[in-house]
Amino acid sequence: MKTTDKPLLDSNILIYSINGDSPFHEKALDLLVQYTHSGFYVADINLIEFFQVVTDGRKTPHPFSTEQASEYIRRLVRIPQVNVLKTGSFHDILQDDDAHAEVRRLQIKRFAIYDYLIADCMRRHAVKLIITGNARDFRKFSFLDVINPFTTSLTSDLRPRTSDLKYISYARQSISEQDVASVCSVLRSDFLTQGPKVPEFEQAIAEYCNAGHAVAVNSGTSALHLACLALGLGIGDTLWTSPITFVASANCALYCGANVDFVDIDPRTYNLCPQTLEKKLQAAQQTGKLPKVVVPVHFSGQPCNMEAIHELGRQYGFRILEDASHALGARYKNEPVGNCRYSDITVFSFHPVKSITTGGGGMAVTNDPDLAQRMTLLRSHGITRDHEKFQIVGVKDSVNETEPGTSKPPHLPTFLLL
Ligand SMILES: *Cc1c(COP(=O)(O)O)cnc(C)c1O
Repeated sequence: MKTTDKPLLDSNILIYSINGDSPFHEKALDLLVQYTHSGFYVADINLIEFFQVVTDGRKTPHPFSTEQASEYIRRLVRIPQVNVLKTGSFHDILQDDDAHAEVRRLQIKRFAIYDYLIADCMRRHAVKLIITGNARDFRKFSFLDVINPFTTSLTSDLRPRTSDLKYISYARQSISEQDVASVCSVLRSDFLTQGPKVPEFEQAIAEYCNAGHAVAVNSGTSALHLACLALGLGIGDTLWTSPITFVASANCALYCGANVDFVDIDPRTYNLCPQTLEKKLQAAQQTGKLPKVVVPVHFSGQPCNMEAIHELGRQYGFRILEDASHALGARYKNEPVGNCRYSDITVFSFHPVKSITTGGGGMAVTNDPDLAQRMTLLRSHGITRDHEKFQIVGVKDSVNETEPGTSKPPHLPTFLLL
């Protein structure tokens, strides 16, 4: 079969071409205009991927055909004709011993199977050149020529790209076109705040961490603050935390009118040291100044010795609030941080320097339904839609009845939202 010199344009070119916010937008449009004259191909799954992204198709209830997707993109980018190549199916690969062996040899894993299908489709249609923003993943196919049109001019004067670095860079978020599409679909929806995405996200985090309840808030700092309030921290109480952390782990006590003190770290782990904690507790017991809440911080995602801290909590009667702002995805004793097996509440931050980001955001997880309910009410000014919880709070009742040193949380008036 004679090889064609027309290239295949990968999905990312199509996606950038319609996304005005992409730094590659202009370049992608230029490419489309250029190749519309000389001719190009796309694989059917490129179209489906493109269609999914622009329509936020993960939520599309009906499956759509390549023809529909092709028609859609043709109108969108005003290309007179789209040459669509049919890919083989997963089923074909599983049936074909040679293809199956090749997939194994190239060590192709889940998501890269799309790349394989595109490469295989190009080979069968004798298309040799692919133009893609995802060059690295296609270079493994020796029968392809791969061009990344975005690496040369556009990024040369910028900081080195994350993928060029040998280490994980700090404060360099990676936002995919799908992320952009998801945000756009929220912007086009009826709710910009407190909409259905909030419980969806809460449930996803609770399930991921294997925690009973999750309460989303606008920052990790807010999560710490509400967690302290829910635990009944107030005037005259003391919170202990690690001296090596972000200031919010300590400031949350001050927001509640409580005092802060610090327990030194273990220099090997950078985490609050259980032995130092024990000595400090023994001393505090003598003077009657035991902490009400201890906040271990899983520094840079490395979990603290929670079992030891939990055991001390049982002996000395303090509550435990895990500051897991850095630690979404970390595991302790082979279970997810956030399952609250050794604590009352765990908080996460979604600031862009953390594991995942919502721009700004935070989450408190707990297995205690009462704590979850208190934090849910606190984040919404005590307003609830639940008639059962509605109560007319008398003057005597409504004041903060918590005495210093008692564990009863302050009384929280609730209001009915009509
Ligand atoms: C980032 C961080 C916080 C605060 O999170 P924000 O979402 O920025 O408010 C709290 N504690 C630690 C240890 C952090 O690193």
